[in-house]
Amino acid sequence: MTDKLYENDSMQQSCQSVVMACRQKDDHFEVLLDRTVIFPEGGGQLSDQGWLNKEPVFYASEDGPDVWHWTKKAFREGEPVTVTLNWDVRLDRMQQHCGEHMLSFAFWKTCGANNVGFHMNEESVFIDLDKEVTEEDVKKAELLANKAIWENNPITLHYVPHTELGNYQLRKKNEKLRGTVRLVAIKNGDTCTCCGTHPPFTGMVGSVKVIRFSHYKGGCRIEFLCGRRALEEMHKRNLILEETSNLLSVKAQEVLPAVEKLRQDSLNLRSQLREKTQALFKHELPQILKEAPLLSDGTRFVWIETEGIPADGKSIMKLVSALDHVLAAVILKNDNRVMYQFAVTGNGSFNCRDFCQMANEVFEGRGGGSPKSAQGGGTAGLDWKQKAESLRSRILKENQ
Ligand SMILES: [Zn+2]
Repeated sequence: MTDKLYENDSMQQSCQSVVMACRQKDDHFEVLLDRTVIFPEGGGQLSDQGWLNKEPVFYASEDGPDVWHWTKKAFREGEPVTVTLNWDVRLDRMQQHCGEHMLSFAFWKTCGANNVGFHMNEESVFIDLDKEVTEEDVKKAELLANKAIWENNPITLHYVPHTELGNYQLRKKNEKLRGTVRLVAIKNGDTCTCCGTHPPFTGMVGSVKVIRFSHYKGGCRIEFLCGRRALEEMHKRNLILEETSNLLSVKAQEVLPAVEKLRQDSLNLRSQLREKTQALFKHELPQILKEAPLLSDGTRFVWIETEGIPADGKSIMKLVSALDHVLAAVILKNDNRVMYQFAVTGNGSFNCRDFCQMANEVFEGRGGGSPKSAQGGGTAGLDWKQKAESLRSRILKENQ
């Protein structure tokens, strides 16, 4: 049994302890101590990290009354050790975890939305709400949570028998709890049952920043960051904004309209280019047709290989398949993809599905269609031209 010092003092960063047991598991050792300041993973809060003497503890797990410390080195039973907490990691966990209490309370208070799910990992923190919220709701809840941080309200712990839980105004009720229950109360805020670590004052959370929200299972998923994570994320995002504004030679506030204009310009250019390409292609088509080899039944085999976006391929195919007695194949490279289309006109007895199947094999792609027309796409790679050539020769050889 481990005396869990973190339960009553989340600020204690080290303690003296004795090894009760040490077991080997796969590639690591698990050390049971008689007392610890290292919080094991549980209740939605990630495990602390720290050291036993100088040996790193990379994870801690809880098994009923026991806390097992995961290390790369074995410890001897009865050995005294100094347990030291990695405070940066603990502070991060507390900031995200306590910030989650505060933001959930703020959503409940400002728009009556209940927290029905919580997820935290090394990069991000989410809560799921049982109703949809607007940008305005998010701003209100975020502000309320931050105001509660600025008030630097005390956060206190109470141990009560489960039979007395009815006397407390709890946002979330858990009917399954039995025995002595640990209550975490934030002054002017939330009271809830929780086994995690919390700072003694709300100010230590630093800040709460919602960075994304989206519809999720009939409600809403809120992604947010607290404390140092929020600061670092805002720093990263600000850098992106600054560099983009330098690239575009506009002020940060003008980046969005400038990017919108760039996008529109690019769409216009793209469409002009397509018109020109089509005009050029129309001009070349009689020559292409003249040079196209004849297949067994007199059908012309028109093979077009080009680069562009899928719409370019479609418009070329439209022009070629307007000709009579042709078997048309359009192979188009778009970034790292290859799109292929086949069409047969007149009463040629070719089956485009077979050609598409051959192309699927050559380009490791997928696609299909009807005997008269088929299409698909696969991976381009550096040798896409050689692959296309092998496909062309095969079709020609088998059908000439
Ligand atoms: Zn908690």
